[in-house]
Amino acid sequence: MQQSSIGEWDRVWVNAHLATMVAAEGNLNAYGEVKDAALAVRGDRIAWMGSSADALARARAQDVAVSDCGGAWLLPGLIDCHTHLVYGGSRVEEFEKRLCGVSYEEIARAGGGIQSTVNATRAATREALLESATRRAQCLMAEGVTTLEIKSGYGLELGVERRLLEVARELGRRLPVSVRTTYLGLHALPQEAAADRAGFVGQVSGPWLEALAGSGLIDAVDAFCENIAFSLAETEQFLHAARRLGVPAHVHAGQLSDMGAAELAARFGALSADHLEYLSAAGATALAAAGTVAVLLPGAYYMLRQTTPPPVPLLRQAGVAMALATDCNPGTSPCTSLLLALNMGCTLFGLTPHEALAGVTRHAAQALGLQAEIGTLEIGKRADFALYRIDRPAELCYNLGANPCTGVVYGGVPRRFKN
Ligand SMILES: [Zn+2]
Repeated sequence: MQQSSIGEWDRVWVNAHLATMVAAEGNLNAYGEVKDAALAVRGDRIAWMGSSADALARARAQDVAVSDCGGAWLLPGLIDCHTHLVYGGSRVEEFEKRLCGVSYEEIARAGGGIQSTVNATRAATREALLESATRRAQCLMAEGVTTLEIKSGYGLELGVERRLLEVARELGRRLPVSVRTTYLGLHALPQEAAADRAGFVGQVSGPWLEALAGSGLIDAVDAFCENIAFSLAETEQFLHAARRLGVPAHVHAGQLSDMGAAELAARFGALSADHLEYLSAAGATALAAAGTVAVLLPGAYYMLRQTTPPPVPLLRQAGVAMALATDCNPGTSPCTSLLLALNMGCTLFGLTPHEALAGVTRHAAQALGLQAEIGTLEIGKRADFALYRIDRPAELCYNLGANPCTGVVYGGVPRRFKN
């Protein structure tokens, strides 16, 4: 990383408190706080950080635009590293029925559950998908999210999966947010494939994966490895195929049971293993050794009223990097607030506020393989950051339902959102 010289600034933000989220040697709980500080950008990069007084003196001598943060906290742009936010329809009717006493079985028999989202998604136009996904993305962005992972998985046939991934890419072009796309090939077995599981897994792992990867539509793959979804062997077949094409992987692992999916994810060097309510000590050790990030998803845990949280002490002890995400999806986590996920990560899973914030910045970047680009405030990294009217960083985890974000800078360009 190069230290920039004075004349090379385009704009400087002064009178801020920085939480760089850089992990300090020997002090993993540090937010990387720098009080009364300033941050300068050049193009889409962070060019300099230092004191406000130095920044103002230099800015006056040069012709540099100055933004006064008014004592706000400035953090790296938040990263939601696990979402399914492109889909058709909603499951609100199902939600209401359940709360009125209708059983899961009756709902499933009436065509509810994931297949209902698949049907609604297949029936939706590209424009309708883009419009509803844009609204969800804007909710996240209003809180300071500047990078978003989006999975396919509600098409379960090549044409619709392609449409979902194209809509996700289009979101990244239209909105000031970076989008990483994931082909969730093994999400559920579609009704029409009920009699031929092996044939479906073969299609997903073969021609469909090759076609989507060949079109440049996917940054990673994902599989729901669970007793109600896909087996270890089926997941392994898909991960093998992805590895042959050089596509990195995420795995939905241990949400409802421990099938050894975390170990499988680790064996394939997956970027992340996600959920992990059910995880053994051996699984945690394997994740740590592979550098696979544990992505925790408290929204689904909350909506499903689960009672076994992920073994955070075990993950901590093993030295697994932990990320947090919304898991935004219509069935189990209709959540468009990463700040709410921060609070839930602390209250439901026992994360420290620092762990939770690292989980939506530094470790979320790692879960997407983007740690060299984003996730911390460092010179040379992308100038994606957010401003918050808070007294200290932990307040982002403490607030329940408030949005103290007062501004977002994306690629060095200031953006504002109405709260
Ligand atoms: Zn998910």
